[in-house]
Amino acid sequence: MKTDVYLIKASREDGPEVIAKKALAIYRSLGFNERIEAEDFVALKIHFGEKNNTGHIKPQWLTGIINDVLQRSDRAFLADSNTLYVGQRANSVDHIRLAWEHGFRPEIVRLPVIIADGLVGREKIEIKTEGGQVKSSRISSAFLSSQVMICLTHVTGHVQTGVGAAIKNLGMGCASRAGKLDQHSVVHPRVKAKDCRNCGVCLDYCPAEAIRQTQTQAIIDDEKCIGCGECLVVCRFGAVKMKWDEDSRRLQEKMAEYALSVKNHFGEKICFINFILQVTKDCDCMAGNQSGVVPDVGIVASLDPVAVDRASIDLVNQAAGRDAFRQGYNLDWSIQLVHGENLGLGSQDYELIEISLD
Ligand code: SF4
Ligand code: SF4
Repeated sequence: MKTDVYLIKASREDGPEVIAKKALAIYRSLGFNERIEAEDFVALKIHFGEKNNTGHIKPQWLTGIINDVLQRSDRAFLADSNTLYVGQRANSVDHIRLAWEHGFRPEIVRLPVIIADGLVGREKIEIKTEGGQVKSSRISSAFLSSQVMICLTHVTGHVQTGVGAAIKNLGMGCASRAGKLDQHSVVHPRVKAKDCRNCGVCLDYCPAEAIRQTQTQAIIDDEKCIGCGECLVVCRFGAVKMKWDEDSRRLQEKMAEYALSVKNHFGEKICFINFILQVTKDCDCMAGNQSGVVPDVGIVASLDPVAVDRASIDLVNQAAGRDAFRQGYNLDWSIQLVHGENLGLGSQDYELIEISLD
């Protein structure tokens, strides 16, 4: 049986009020709000956009959905996890300030902003993961302490996965820093000699005693390192670097496995809304403005992350008249979908149901 994916056509030219009405209409098409109970913590998973990024989902677009959610539970919140890389979203204080700068303030969204893996990305819950490479997933604790998730995703291209959409938002976006590290690299971090001040702080935090000091710098022992990411978090000088050497296939497969862990936690109480507006070559982790690579398409929604992503990709490529994602980076973006489907995360076989306002 085909999976329902709902589409409402939209463009940034509609303006924020009309986009908010369309987002609400597509949310209501799912009949999801009735699944929220009064005492539920409701996580609206979102990416607030790196500093000066312009492609991220705008707070005004969410006002209608949030109004509906608040009628069921006033324990709703907007949330993301801290990043692996050093930037404006690597700790909760900077991250929340940036979310405010991008308009995610209570007077607009009526919700608190929570960074789901705590002040510096160490608050995680480890859960068993089915399906292949990953034996357990290290997920940001606030997500797994919630009963409901509304996964709000800006569809983009991505330098390592070809496409960044709902599966990525779920698998990578809900992972704690350690979980991100786990997905991103089978080789462990390195200390860059020229940036290391030899302060020794990372030694205190390393749970595996994998770091030692020489006369001039800290050094990580690959044999002992468990890839937890603690040293990345605590080094204030940015001296600990990732080796971004995980190939796209393994990265996408691990990401789908993490996504399954998160989806399984929520069961029937998770839904997916993809915004296909200002689809950019790179994801919203990129600072600054990026132009859309195809005309705006609209907003799609489903209870199935694989179906909503497949439909989003098809709609973008139809609008482009080509494989717009492969044109950005020559990566096989289908790996995350195929592996997700094989794991039972969802189905690529969907039926597109177009709705409109009125
Ligand atoms: S915390 Fe950073 S600067 Fe200090 S020793 Fe470790 S890697 Fe070097
Ligand atoms: S990633 Fe974790 S285990 Fe590996 S060196 Fe850093 S703190 Fe130690």
